[in-house]
Amino acid sequence: MPLPSSLFEALQRMAAQQAWQYVYPVWSRRAQGLSIGINLHPNQCCNWHCIYCQVPGLHRGPSPVIDLDHLQEELSACLHWLRQHLHAAKRIFSEDVQDIAFAGDGEPTTSPQFPEALALVERLLSQTSPTDRPARVRLITNGSQMHLTTTQQALKVLQQMGGEVWFKLDAGNDPEMLAVNDARLPLSLHLQRLQACSMACRTWVQTAVMQRRIADQLVTTPALAGYVQALLPLKENIEGILLYGIARPSQQDTLASIQAPDIRLLQQYAQALRTQGFNVRLFA
Ligand code: SF4
Repeated sequence: MPLPSSLFEALQRMAAQQAWQYVYPVWSRRAQGLSIGINLHPNQCCNWHCIYCQVPGLHRGPSPVIDLDHLQEELSACLHWLRQHLHAAKRIFSEDVQDIAFAGDGEPTTSPQFPEALALVERLLSQTSPTDRPARVRLITNGSQMHLTTTQQALKVLQQMGGEVWFKLDAGNDPEMLAVNDARLPLSLHLQRLQACSMACRTWVQTAVMQRRIADQLVTTPALAGYVQALLPLKENIEGILLYGIARPSQQDTLASIQAPDIRLLQQYAQALRTQGFNVRLFA
């Protein structure tokens, strides 16, 4: 993982000075560099409550109304600023800006305005020279809305844009989904949504591996065997798996019950998946 660039730090200062509400620069471990995040939930509302979530003040509730004009202004200003600085430094835009990523402080696809926000990004990028665009557009999602026609239509737009989805799968059975994501959703249904997602757009699975302290015992989640079995039928559908440990402190784990796995444990998971033919990227 490269160290945060001075470009990122300067952009972060500008975002703070201008008090951007929807657009935020982030130095992303998984994107391997500068990512321009889009937050459709500045009210910190999500329909899940993952135990490792880093969002302070996270709560359940409805998506807020997004001021799309305001979002457009912030994103235009961000892209314009990056263009100016990268041109001046004779840098290549797509090498320094890894993506525009729908992520933020809640699940992006629960916002009824997600399709419009995606269309806005598409419009802005289509008005920009191909050499002045980020490497890609991404949707980072818990996958809970993938059964909806509106979401699937938006995914097809994302696919046409050359974008991709990172789909959360942290469990290999129903109790793990409840314990890790606080989602009362059968795993089988979640896997159906993963399949629907992968049929509409290029999809990577993203999985947080962690250890949870339960009655003085450390239990690794997801348990390897069940997780691999759950994914096997979808091997041909997905691009691969982003496997990572817990890097930043959780804001939800009030009992301090989770901890990051040892790198050797992560490597063991990666090896087991690769043996089954999966493409795995590991982020310790
Ligand atoms: S889905 Fe994402 S935003 Fe929602 S609780 Fe989980 S980690 Fe946090």
